[in-house]
Amino acid sequence: MKSNWDSCPMCGCIKIKRVKKTLTFNTKKGKVKVPNLEFYECDSCKEQFFGEKANNKN
Ligand SMILES: [Zn+2]
Repeated sequence: MKSNWDSCPMCGCIKIKRVKKTLTFNTKKGKVKVPNLEFYECDSCKEQFFGEKANNKN
């Protein structure tokens, strides 16, 4: 499982930082708000990406 990003998949920048924010996702069931979600953000292009795929339904 890939949990760390060495470089940004979008721009190749290595300034990847781990952040914790509240995100809102649009799903089939409507908007789902996820508080304190940890993900990675590129310091250069501000692209947000996740270290692991969150396909689990809990
Ligand atoms: Zn980037």
